[in-house]
Amino acid sequence: MIQINEPAREYAALAPSIEAAVLASLRTGRWLFGEATEGFARDFAEYLGVNHVLPVANGTDALELALRAVGVGAGDEVITAANAGGYTSIACRLIGAIPVYADVVSPTMTLDSQDAVALLSSRVKAVVVTHLYGNLGEVEGLRVLLEAAGRADIAIIEDCAQAHGARAGDRRAGSLGDLSTFSFYPSKNLGALGDGGAVVTNRDDLAHQVRLLRQYGWEPRYRNVAAYGRNSRIDEVQAAVLRIKLEHLDAMNGARRKILQAYRNALPEGFRLCVAEGEATVGHLAVLLCPSRDSARSHLNEMGVQTDIHYPTLDPDQPAWCDLPMRCGPLSNARLAVERILTLPCFPHMTEDEIAKVCEALRSLPPAG
Ligand SMILES: *Cc1c(COP(=O)(O)O)cnc(C)c1O
Repeated sequence: MIQINEPAREYAALAPSIEAAVLASLRTGRWLFGEATEGFARDFAEYLGVNHVLPVANGTDALELALRAVGVGAGDEVITAANAGGYTSIACRLIGAIPVYADVVSPTMTLDSQDAVALLSSRVKAVVVTHLYGNLGEVEGLRVLLEAAGRADIAIIEDCAQAHGARAGDRRAGSLGDLSTFSFYPSKNLGALGDGGAVVTNRDDLAHQVRLLRQYGWEPRYRNVAAYGRNSRIDEVQAAVLRIKLEHLDAMNGARRKILQAYRNALPEGFRLCVAEGEATVGHLAVLLCPSRDSARSHLNEMGVQTDIHYPTLDPDQPAWCDLPMRCGPLSNARLAVERILTLPCFPHMTEDEIAKVCEALRSLPPAG
């Protein structure tokens, strides 16, 4: 069976340098906020072209801290795409903020800016643009629409957990919004050997807020000045791993894009991939839009190709939240897509043989209808 992802291969390819870096960080005797964390923050800021990278414990914390940093509190509204995998909703629920679910655009399945603006209310404090499947969502166009609506006060947060390195012209995902968040969960395009995350921004004031919030709200030490401060830190060991892997990120993303291109060429009529053009995608997930998902899924399974669904339930339909306060647009694209999406194997160390086998299975997919 060809798996969706094989993270152990990425580890094996980089093992000598990762193991040396981990050993060195263990021997420093400083396991939090040391050289590796500082070095990684500097390297990643340079890679992204931003002023501040604030490493935290994971991508969900990053979202919560980013929302709090822009002043989102209990009862405030946050606009987000309905299909974004639940993470922004979780951050909102932790704060007591109210998610407002907007529709998505095809084929990238990222936030529909027009629909987001149609859902504005006086209580909206932030919009989260999730760069889903590695596809860059619209940030600058959204900013223009918000300004035209007289709402330049609303913060735009990019969720870049699936889009490390995605590019619009010479700007990377993470450098476009007021604040952006990353996850370094092992299966992400830039993944640690455990948990990790970051909030990034160009703004000094927001960086300062996040710095307070991730360390108990202290300033100075033992004096709590930020009401919702908590503890969210990355380990030195993980930062050391990320520093090594960052050097290989562009090459790995290139390998993912090549796989997507091979799949695209093999697709029969009626099927399409949810991918952006060129470097505006980093191929985090190879998501196929099927005319009939069940038959496609069982065909691929019979041909030895593992599949998955990212994600099978829209946020507003999740059992934990469906009775809590929320607002929703009509979500016609999101509702159509949620029944048709199917994720194919896609990871940088897939062999030519595996790619060819998936392509063969795609070419022989049962036609629509
Ligand atoms: C993985 C992911 C997160 C959450 O990251 P964790 O590090 O697992 O908390 C948030 N948003 C998106 C889009 C993700 O894919």
